[in-house]
Amino acid sequence: MGLHDLDFITKRLDELKEQGVYRQLPVLQSPSGPRSVINGKEVINLSSNNYLGLANHPRLREAGKKAIDKWGMGAGAVRTIIGNMSIHEELEEKLAKFKHVEAVIVFQSGFTANAGAIPGIVDKGDVIISDELNHASIIDGCRLSKADVVRYKHSDMEDLERVINEVKDNYSTKLIITDGVFSMDGDIAKLPEIVELAEKYGCLTYVDDAHSSGVLGSSGQGSAHHFGLSDRIDVQIGTLSKAIGVVGGYVAGRRNLIEWLNHRGRPFLFSTAAPPAVAAACIEAINILSESTELTDKMWDNANYFKKKLNELGFNTGKSETPITPVIAGDDRKAVELSRRLFEEGVFAQSIVFPTVAKGAARVRTIVTAAHTKEDLDEAAAAFAKVGREIGLIK
Ligand SMILES: *Cc1c(COP(=O)(O)O)cnc(C)c1O
Repeated sequence: MGLHDLDFITKRLDELKEQGVYRQLPVLQSPSGPRSVINGKEVINLSSNNYLGLANHPRLREAGKKAIDKWGMGAGAVRTIIGNMSIHEELEEKLAKFKHVEAVIVFQSGFTANAGAIPGIVDKGDVIISDELNHASIIDGCRLSKADVVRYKHSDMEDLERVINEVKDNYSTKLIITDGVFSMDGDIAKLPEIVELAEKYGCLTYVDDAHSSGVLGSSGQGSAHHFGLSDRIDVQIGTLSKAIGVVGGYVAGRRNLIEWLNHRGRPFLFSTAAPPAVAAACIEAINILSESTELTDKMWDNANYFKKKLNELGFNTGKSETPITPVIAGDDRKAVELSRRLFEEGVFAQSIVFPTVAKGAARVRTIVTAAHTKEDLDEAAAAFAKVGREIGLIK
């Protein structure tokens, strides 16, 4: 006996290779920063979600170190047994104040926040009305719930109303779910219209602010705050893993909802609490955001600067409204070639191809951060210009 050879897995891997989508992970050999060492080479990093440069911020490092000295490395248990440290509760209270909501519950990641919250809210006999471009963790959360799922065309409010009308009489709870900022195009959900339709037809609203936490709102409170809708959106998901610079996810909303997820949000019950140093560093990140808008201002300034440069060069940057700026290349091979050549020219910008984006819309996705300098961005734009001309994307 011994291990099975798992030939059927090898066959699947071979299929990936035949389709040209088998890949090696790029290796980051330095902190995540505006310039990072990737695969042995120092390059300008345009692919991290480290929007504000907090992942390697001295104040977060210091807060993390202090917490390790005070609390040790691990929480020792799930929150519901005896892993609930006062520092976790402090983080939740801080986030609730920051978000202007009654209460917050922190999960191990944004992914598990969706996987826990959606099945916690809807059940058999309910319906989820979901934007077709919602994140994979929302899709999985929907599957884990026993609710029916109907999808509407991306950010198409006529289609949303059509879908609502189709289902409105057949279900008890109707939950509309959308990303706040869509990760592939960088466009913002039409929350004012969504909220209006939700109120007209008696639906609940659920917004996943993974790419808007620390990005939208006056100090990075998210998309609901950005539109002045904090008190009209029932469920706000945030992540601590992207702009906040550490790891974790949370649900913000009414106290009863948060108490319920405390009893029924499965990853909260069955997966160990975040290390105390993680909670401490997240608290420090929220302190930084609350003290001044310096980092968010710098991020927006940089993002607008770089987007304008790309547009002036003649690149197609789609419908981006945020620091996520795609450079659309067309077919998959062209996007891969653009990314590969950029790397040779000292710029890391990951290509994104089918099925993550539609056929013909393959792209390189860039995210400019507060930590980049204008020189970084000028240099990156020059590399884009050179490679773009070479492969015929621009004249
Ligand atoms: C990144 C992302 C997540 C996952 O967040 P993590 O904290 O990295 O697990 C969830 N939802 C959306 C929309 C995301 O973009």
